[in-house]
Amino acid sequence: METKLLNTDDESLRLAGRLLREGKVVGIPTETVYGLGANALDTKAVGDIFKAKGRPQDNPLIVHISELSQLEGLVEEIPELAKKCAEQFWPGPLTMIFKKKPIIPDTTSGGLDTVGIRMPSNKYARKIISYAGVPIAAPSANLSGSPSPTTAMHVFKDMNGRVPAIVDGGMSAVGVESTVICFEGDSIRILRPGFISKEDLCEVTDNVLIDKGVLEQLSADAVVRSPGMKYKHYSPTADVTIIDADADKFRAYVSEHGDSETVCLVFSDSDCEGTSLRYINYGADSKQQAQKLFDALRQLDEIGAKKAYARCPEKTGVGLAVYNRLLRAAGFQVIKL
Ligand code: AMP
Ligand code: MG
Repeated sequence: METKLLNTDDESLRLAGRLLREGKVVGIPTETVYGLGANALDTKAVGDIFKAKGRPQDNPLIVHISELSQLEGLVEEIPELAKKCAEQFWPGPLTMIFKKKPIIPDTTSGGLDTVGIRMPSNKYARKIISYAGVPIAAPSANLSGSPSPTTAMHVFKDMNGRVPAIVDGGMSAVGVESTVICFEGDSIRILRPGFISKEDLCEVTDNVLIDKGVLEQLSADAVVRSPGMKYKHYSPTADVTIIDADADKFRAYVSEHGDSETVCLVFSDSDCEGTSLRYINYGADSKQQAQKLFDALRQLDEIGAKKAYARCPEKTGVGLAVYNRLLRAAGFQVIKL
């Protein structure tokens, strides 16, 4: 199949919407990462997302809406806390888990009786969804296991020949996937950290918990609340290790252990100064790191890195999301100095 690259003029967005309504799979820009969209209510179309990605069947998809009014048709009940979160953070990079209505096929929910819903803030994403006229299931548009795509070119590299169209909406503003939360009485539990941080959610309630799957390695047969967290994820070919250290200790460590096939992921050009090692600067603060991390991981493959040492991000605010993704890219290898 030929994969068309579409731009963001109105005609192209309408075409993307029509393809989705007809049951096709389309790569779409969102503010988090690029998504691989299909009609969330169409079992066959959703099945094609799993095929295109090579995604395990028990890994549920997030359903994207363009209007708040779509929510009640999809879920059994909307807790008070969810209403507050929607008011505060939608449209935006927050996914909320609800008990699903039967209209959501089991294929979409990965066999769970719950469904994750999000209203993206990216204006192209919302237009495409509204032109499609149906809720859109959309996981990240990468091959299962690889880093998530933050540009249309990343999507093209993974999905060329697998989907009929990709809409190029420029670089994703946030760069990491949405924060996923569920509700437990008057508490919010963070199942996957994202741009909406624990600190942000505390504006809605003091009771915000971080699930243990966020920072711990889960076994493949574990029964978990957020199935995606147990899979190998975001992995470049290079063997990645996180170095939890200040700049001086980082520099000393990598110059002793690095070689010509090593690439460092750093916060500043000075982090590798005086060494002969290659490096990729992935940003000086957590927001920049969120935006650039996946591109940096993809670049490791492009330049043929065998080994990578990454400076350890902050573990608070958006930094927790960056750390969570990098931990998985590194297969949980962390050296604390
Ligand atoms: P992706 O769209 O590739 O970013 O993956 C979506 C992730 O959201 C899944 O891997 C889960 O971790 C999480 N998720 C989606 N739906 C649910 C759900 N019903 N319950 C718990 N976690 C979910
Ligand atoms: Mg994904």
